[in-house]
Amino acid sequence: MQNRESDTPARPERVRKLKRLILALLVLVMILPMIASILMLIHIHRLNRQLDAMKDQVALLQQNREADALHAEDAVETQTDSQADAQMDMSIAADGKDGGNDAAETTQVDPEEMIDPGNDARQSVTEAKTTNPSENDAKVKSCKVYLTFDDGPSSNTGRILDLLAKYDVKATFFVNGREGPISESLYKRIVDEGHTLGMHSYTHKYDEIYESKQAFIKDLERLQDYLYEVTGVWPRFYRFPGGSSNEVSTVSMQELADYLKEQDIYYLDWNVASGDAMGTNLSAGALAQRVLGMIGEEETQVVLMHDAADKSATVDALAIILEELTKQDGVEILQVSEDMDFEPVQHLKSNE
Ligand SMILES: [Zn+2]
Repeated sequence: MQNRESDTPARPERVRKLKRLILALLVLVMILPMIASILMLIHIHRLNRQLDAMKDQVALLQQNREADALHAEDAVETQTDSQADAQMDMSIAADGKDGGNDAAETTQVDPEEMIDPGNDARQSVTEAKTTNPSENDAKVKSCKVYLTFDDGPSSNTGRILDLLAKYDVKATFFVNGREGPISESLYKRIVDEGHTLGMHSYTHKYDEIYESKQAFIKDLERLQDYLYEVTGVWPRFYRFPGGSSNEVSTVSMQELADYLKEQDIYYLDWNVASGDAMGTNLSAGALAQRVLGMIGEEETQVVLMHDAADKSATVDALAIILEELTKQDGVEILQVSEDMDFEPVQHLKSNE
């Protein structure tokens, strides 16, 4: 009885609680699947995006398979490059305290971009922009874009040639002297596929090339003869290692520029530095963004890139750049030829 007396007033309360519980459970049973469905949809969307990105990567990797076979040779070539860069770093570093081999190998700073006069200003402008390349659309007006690649050939050269073929675009390769069948086949590919084969010194060793006018001529002739022997093409375009405005040459750059003119060789600098040789290891997206951000600023735009063995990000950036630029109506992508207007892209101003 005692139990019943105490139970009786509590019963409606319990029933109410039970009812609320059942109601809450019902609501949960209805809402939970909805939430789960929404979460799954979001997840599926994300996975689809990842899948698309991976498909792109697979396509790129397939293109690169052939190039991967060249890595063994490049290891040797890169070592030579690093030695050259180390010498360069030592001579141009302001304090030079850590300009040893280690520093050169990790930073790989190419003076070609360090001395670009407009580089810093342009970089800050570009960095301020968002990462969506299409936002540059409004800025692009009618312009001629010359894509140039220095320091090759290397395993990345083949990948670049594949990309250029995919987009049916011609470019210019300012090459160094690299011996062996793999490099020779790449020089030939450049020529056979209709690109411009330019010169960028045989050794790329600043202290040797710029030691004297005679040393410069010797290096130039060595490369010109070698390329002619390999490809049958007499190269007539030159890019000075470090650019014509470099401050490391012990010879007057004007004197060297005049010499090239006498030889009917056209030299070319750049006004769009991709940033792939600044030693900061920019991502492909960042490199592409820098380049696309500058396209449309001048009527003639020469883009400086590097097809050295350690510049894989440049290749991935090129894929983005080509995808974007080939969509732009006002942009014409051309290869360096005698018809182009060289003057806007020569850092060194002619005395004549
Ligand atoms: Zn170079």
